[in-house]
Amino acid sequence: MMGKGSMRLGELRAEVARYAKKMVASELVRAAQGNLSVRDPETGLICITPSGMDYDLVTAEDIVVIDEQGEVVEGAHRPSVETPLHTLLLRRRSDIHCVMHTHSLYATAFGVVYEPLPMVLAESALCLGGTIPIAPYQMSGTPEFAELIAETMGDANAIIWGNHGAMVVGPSLGATFSAAHALEDGAQVYTLARQLGTPVPLPPDEVTKLHAFWREHYARS
Ligand SMILES: [Zn+2]
Repeated sequence: MMGKGSMRLGELRAEVARYAKKMVASELVRAAQGNLSVRDPETGLICITPSGMDYDLVTAEDIVVIDEQGEVVEGAHRPSVETPLHTLLLRRRSDIHCVMHTHSLYATAFGVVYEPLPMVLAESALCLGGTIPIAPYQMSGTPEFAELIAETMGDANAIIWGNHGAMVVGPSLGATFSAAHALEDGAQVYTLARQLGTPVPLPPDEVTKLHAFWREHYARS
């Protein structure tokens, strides 16, 4: 864990800070909203955004290092209030190393009408692999909420929280960031398409095929 391990953690903290800024710049969240974590597969340690800090100001040193139980290993700030959810998902799923919570607008709207989002775009099907479930509303930030989201999500790669926002998981920061945009683009295009006519979702076997291709080519980390 010393030497090479801590160097790797330093790089991961810098990457989390960089992607937190990208989340704001690309309007997945505003100011200090949302949160982001990535696990170092070698040590099992998790780098997560701090609670309540404006991402425009966040630096690598502000990113908090925690273990898989959520205990702080390194860092001067409190970790995100959604830490119980991040650690639960990362503990339960060995196929993912990154968890991202956004407030992207069109995806969030589906959680206000409580309508699961079908796969209408090839890009969304590639990254996400199936209809996006909606979790019932519950105040976030508690172990009970973490359990609710993990249960509702199952092995899906994204979920929309009722009356709140969205969450996307993936094998790496880059893949998860792309998936968060694929979710938002799918939600926006589906909304536009409904104004034009009757949207035609991709056939389920095509969605499965596209996502299998993505896992094969991009999901290694
Ligand atoms: Zn939120």
